[in-house]
Amino acid sequence: MRAVVCDAVGSDLRLVDDHPEPVAAGGATLTVTACGVCHSDLHVVDGDFPSPLPMVLGHEVTGVHDRLGPVMLYAPWGCRSCPQCADGLEQICPDATEAGLFADGGYAERMAVPDEAYLSPLDGLDPFVAAPLACGGLTAYRAVDHGLATLRDRAAGRGEAPRAMVIGAGGLGQYAIRYLRALTDAEVVAVDLDPAKQATALEIGAHAACGPDDDPGTADVVLDFIGADATLGLAATTVRRRGVVAIVGLFGGRIPFGLGAVPHEARFLSSFWGSRVQMDELLDLARREPAILQDVEVLGLADAQTAHQRLRAGDVRGRLVLDPNR
Ligand SMILES: [Zn+2]
Ligand SMILES: [Zn+2]
Repeated sequence: MRAVVCDAVGSDLRLVDDHPEPVAAGGATLTVTACGVCHSDLHVVDGDFPSPLPMVLGHEVTGVHDRLGPVMLYAPWGCRSCPQCADGLEQICPDATEAGLFADGGYAERMAVPDEAYLSPLDGLDPFVAAPLACGGLTAYRAVDHGLATLRDRAAGRGEAPRAMVIGAGGLGQYAIRYLRALTDAEVVAVDLDPAKQATALEIGAHAACGPDDDPGTADVVLDFIGADATLGLAATTVRRRGVVAIVGLFGGRIPFGLGAVPHEARFLSSFWGSRVQMDELLDLARREPAILQDVEVLGLADAQTAHQRLRAGDVRGRLVLDPNR
C-alpha cells in the first residue's frame, strides 16, 4: 500500500508504494480517509521523541471501518491497567503507545488499530475538516475544559465578568478561542507576537487581541499554548486569585512556584491531549456548533514533505490534512 515513511531522525519523508499491509492482531483495520499534519509530527522527525523509526507518521486520523462506517481514531492507546487508564485517561498513561508517534499511523492508505473501542463514528461530520480535532482540537478542548468550572463559577458569582486569556493564537489557540466562545460567556483575550494571528483571533471571536508587550489585563483562566519562560511568566502575572493556568505548549519554559510567587490559590497545571470521552464530547460539539471547526487545506500523500516544510515555516492558514487517495 502507499504510505509516507519517516526513515530516520532528520531525514526527508519518503512516499512508498509497497509498504507492508498493516496487521491488526485482534483489533481493527482502518481505511484512512484523511490525516491531519500536526506539530508533533515535526518533533518525531527532529528526534525529540524516542519514536521507533522507520515509522509511518500521522495521529489525526479519520477513516472507514467495515462495521462502524466513517470514524475518527483515538490515537493515545494506554496500557489499560494503570490508575490513569482505569480513570479513562489513556493519554497520560505512562506506558501509552500513540499511533503515528510510537506506532505506524495514518499517513497511509490503511492502518491497524488495537481495538474498535478507539473508533468514534463521525455521524455526518466531514472527515477532512474533522481530522485535526483528533489531536489539535482535542488538546485545546481539554485545556479549555480545565478552566470551564472556574469561568462558570465566576459568571454565577460576582458582578465582574469572567475573563479567559489564550496565549499563542496558532492552530490550537484558535480552537481554544472558538470553544471558549461556544461554551462560556467569558470575555476572551488572545496574546500573540504575530499581528496576523492577532487579527485571526479577532475574526474568529476573541473580544481583544494584543502582543506580549501590551497589557492584556487579568484573567480567571489563562491557557498557554506556547510554554516558554516568557509566556508562563505572563500567565503567572496575569492570572487572578483562585484562577487557573493550564500549560499546553511544548516550548519547555519554567517559572518559580511558591506561596507569594503566584497569586493566592491560583492553580497551575499541565494539560496533555484529551481523554477518550472528551473526543466524543468534542465530536458532539462539532455537530452542534460547526463554528468551532477550522478551515483545512487538503494535500496528497506525495506532498507530505512539503506540508512539513510549510508547517515549520508557519506558512499555513487553518490546518493541513493529507488525503491518501490523492
Ligand atoms: Zn495505562
Ligand atoms: Zn498532535
